[in-house]
Amino acid sequence: MQRIAVLTSGGDSPGMNAAIRAVVRKAIYHGLEVIGIQRGYSGFIEADMGPMNLGSVADIVHRGGTVLRTARSEEFKTPEGRSKAFANVQRFGIQGLVVIGGDGSFKGAEVFNREYNLPVIGVPGTIDNDITGTEFSIGFDTAINTVVEAINKIRDTATSHERTFILEVMGRESGYIALMAGLAGGAESILIPELRQSIEEVCDKLKRGYKRGKLHSIIIVAEGAASGLEVGKQIREMTGLETKVTILGHLQRGGTPTAFDRILASQMGAKAVELLMEGCRNHMVGMVAGKVVASPLEAAFHGKRPIDLEIYNLANILSI
Ligand code: ATP
Repeated sequence: MQRIAVLTSGGDSPGMNAAIRAVVRKAIYHGLEVIGIQRGYSGFIEADMGPMNLGSVADIVHRGGTVLRTARSEEFKTPEGRSKAFANVQRFGIQGLVVIGGDGSFKGAEVFNREYNLPVIGVPGTIDNDITGTEFSIGFDTAINTVVEAINKIRDTATSHERTFILEVMGRESGYIALMAGLAGGAESILIPELRQSIEEVCDKLKRGYKRGKLHSIIIVAEGAASGLEVGKQIREMTGLETKVTILGHLQRGGTPTAFDRILASQMGAKAVELLMEGCRNHMVGMVAGKVVASPLEAAFHGKRPIDLEIYNLANILSI
């Protein structure tokens, strides 16, 4: 193998740059050439790509976002779109591809491998942490630290004003951000899409807390479980408590990646190159029990990663 390509696809996540840097530098270290593809599969189709060198990835390890930029490409979902991408594989002499993104991006990579036999390795980059085959995806740690920072700040004002605060966080289908940030931030209730909890239960818990002398309450809502504004309104109507709602939105995608995400991204990016050099194809890298491992790409999109029930129960016990 002499020349590989790398792209970032789907939603961006903090640490993608550290992963790109690892792919490029590890490949060059082993004498490979690297092509950087801009704007995910869109750039793959449109030949928006060019060679990368050691300097192309200088000074990016600490930056959020992705220097390769990212996109969602409807055209890549069609055989015609993928055949245009394959023409560029031939034109640029690409012999292996690293795809940094979420499960949708992996699906695209898997289909492309099946059709054109190009070895592909997926690197999980999504703040949602919902990919089967890895305990952590790049960007999740930074995102939950952003949420915890917000909880800390809200807690100050919540205590001063004796109010109930509702914080809506990202996670359309996955409650991982809400759950882990809720546990770390000491939230009273955590609403996630995987496990439905009634507003009555949330209100009962709130009332019990205030009766015991609690000065404030913080409720974390994953966007896929309910709308924060709606939860705030219902609690106000059912309890008479004053509620304030904060929607964190895209703040959670940005920011300088944490050390954890940079280390994870560096390990995963380097492993992806190693796998390609070993002749591995159609796999993703993942962090399992502290080790970077490879598993078939397919596994990643046959069902979302289930929520960790032990953590959910623990968060409930600790916020009693
Ligand atoms: P995030 O978790 O941030 O949403 P993602 O990688 O899951 O990231 P998607 O929008 O689902 O994001 O997928 C990214 C791109 O992957 C799509 O825009 C499309 O180009 C490609 N893709 C997704 N599914 C398929 C598929 N079935 N066949 C071909 N390509 C696909």
